[in-house]
Amino acid sequence: MASNGTDRPFKTTRTLKTTGPGDETDLRVRLRLASTLQSSLDLHTILDLFFVEAAAVVPCDGLAYEHGALGIEHEVGRQSVHTCSYRIINQQDALGTLRFARSQRFNEREMALLESLLALLVFPVTNALRYRSAVAAALVDPLTGAGNQDSLDEALRREMDRARRYDQCLALAMIDLDHFKRINDGCGHVRGDQVLCAMVDAVHEGIRGSDTVFRYGGEEFVVLLSNTNAALAMRISERLRSRIEALELRHGSRLVTTTVSIGVAMLRPEDTIARFLNRVDEALYRAKSNGRNIVHLAATADHVGESV
Ligand code: GH3
Ligand code: MG
Ligand code: MG
Repeated sequence: MASNGTDRPFKTTRTLKTTGPGDETDLRVRLRLASTLQSSLDLHTILDLFFVEAAAVVPCDGLAYEHGALGIEHEVGRQSVHTCSYRIINQQDALGTLRFARSQRFNEREMALLESLLALLVFPVTNALRYRSAVAAALVDPLTGAGNQDSLDEALRREMDRARRYDQCLALAMIDLDHFKRINDGCGHVRGDQVLCAMVDAVHEGIRGSDTVFRYGGEEFVVLLSNTNAALAMRISERLRSRIEALELRHGSRLVTTTVSIGVAMLRPEDTIARFLNRVDEALYRAKSNGRNIVHLAATADHVGESV
């Protein structure tokens, strides 16, 4: 169901008209729109297709879609002074808000037409949002919410390309909990899981919004630091190390503390994903063998981007 929004003085309990003017043309338009909207599961494509069809029925300059909770925004055409907004709701699910815009006011008949077309958008948008969340879930580690191996591969490919194209530094930090086995053995696996989650939260709080965290293995995580030189990568990693060391978790009356060792490597021109990961893994190994609870930087000679 669609209900009208608040940015137009417009009755809030308007009934959705599903039949339009009822002539043959309109029925054909509706059938074509229904089948067009079923041709994609991508929300942005669906909205673009919808705009083209809707604007052919009711002339509009632009359409803006927003789903605040999911952080999705999409605009087609251009925005204009007069707007007509609809909150789209399917049963209990809020599917977002659509705003039609143009330089002339919309009249009642036009809004009724838009509503009848909007009714055809509800199921395609529902399906697109479900598809989107299924795809997102497939890229996330369910325990910690960090990205999983698949998303790490994809992000590395993308960021390595970008770093080379713009000659920017790209740093990778690999984090491994120190003596994590002892926490599992002493406090149990469930508490161990909670420590992993607390550690990932601490990492998220210690990095910039543009940096991403991935679970690389059991208790190993990778942070991808875009456009970051070695000095900054070391400062960020040191901050993460000390944040994690300061975490105070309880197991009954016992205080559980944990530390991490971190390896840092900078992207080199000849690196493949595997080589880049290998070098950061070696740096982590050095951090472990040099006593744990430290950050070790791999040799930075000839890396991509500005030299440090
Ligand atoms: P080191 O300092 O050398 O890294 O020692 P460590 O004990 O952390 O390393 P080790 O590789 O010996 O043990 C890793 C442990 O991490 C063993 C494994 O059971 C535990 N682990 C891996 N994944 C999970 C998980 O999802 N949850 C919990 N609770 N434990 C996990
Ligand atoms: Mg470990
Ligand atoms: Mg490990």
